[in-house]
Amino acid sequence: MDTQVEEVNGVKEPLSKKQKKKLMKKQKWLETKQERRKKEKLKMKQKRAVAKAQGLSFGPDRKKLKQCTMSGSSCKQQIVVDMSFEEFMMEKDIGKCAKQIHRSYSANRRVDNPTQLYITSFHGQFKEILSKNIGYSNWDLHYRTEFYRECFRKEDLVYLSSDSDNIIDKLDESKVYVIGGLVDHNAHKGLCHKLAVENGIQHARLPIDEYIVMKTRKVLTIDQVFRILLGVTQGKSWKDSFLEIIPARKGATDKDGSPDNSEEEQVEDASKSSSCNSVSTPSAETDVENGNEVSAPKDMETRLENIEHTDPSL
Ligand code: SAH
Repeated sequence: MDTQVEEVNGVKEPLSKKQKKKLMKKQKWLETKQERRKKEKLKMKQKRAVAKAQGLSFGPDRKKLKQCTMSGSSCKQQIVVDMSFEEFMMEKDIGKCAKQIHRSYSANRRVDNPTQLYITSFHGQFKEILSKNIGYSNWDLHYRTEFYRECFRKEDLVYLSSDSDNIIDKLDESKVYVIGGLVDHNAHKGLCHKLAVENGIQHARLPIDEYIVMKTRKVLTIDQVFRILLGVTQGKSWKDSFLEIIPARKGATDKDGSPDNSEEEQVEDASKSSSCNSVSTPSAETDVENGNEVSAPKDMETRLENIEHTDPSL
């Protein structure tokens, strides 16, 4: 009574009561998706109108968002998210990766001079998840199916890793900074660093210890790393960028002793500039965590749907 054979996406398999319930819920969610989007759009429109009537600002100016594209940006800093780690992740973590990349993308769209943001090894399950849940094809983002090493000159690449003994001093526009597209809950400690070393790719960590004191480990999420770099390309100091982006629960404080501030706010303002430079050396106490979010909401699709509303391209 609990199980029966049912066809799910063309595959015949027995489903438990729980699975059937879950499937029905998902189908219902998909069926009502468009209707919900319409309602939400209307709600947002009304909220925007109310805010406008009261002279309040309601999110970023959409016209401005459309103008601030990568091609028109004075910032030529290339930043890559290397999505070649699918085999190391469970499906739900690939979903988290998608969410983190969406956040990175949203942050990039909200600054005056977006960085040149790439996703490499863009195929497989990750691409499927993005295309199912989010209108990724409209995003102002450089998608590459190739592996990152095939897209850039080897000598220009700097792989970012909290395990590296090298420290980024200043950002260098002639370099291409690579962020590992990996959400692993600390299961693959040091993987990105190991691969960079094996492949003779330069590597470096963010100068966290040099500017702030952190109570916890220094492995950040993809979007945190991206947003810190973004802040710096827009003229912020490393310290301000760290204190703004690193969540309060990680216990980040100014080296001079003052407490940190916000948690996971978007980098929205900031002026320009894009100072550049090299990678210096040691002093690393690498403390590897996982770089993941603390809580994982139950339903990935719901989560992706939620962030959809902040997507400036929609
Ligand atoms: N175990 C993974 C951790 C993934 S965290 C690993 O082997 O790296 C996701 C990515 O964020 C990392 O691959 C790295 O590129 C970047 N990252 C996280 N914390 C960082 C730090 N403190 N300095 C430089 N890059 C960091």
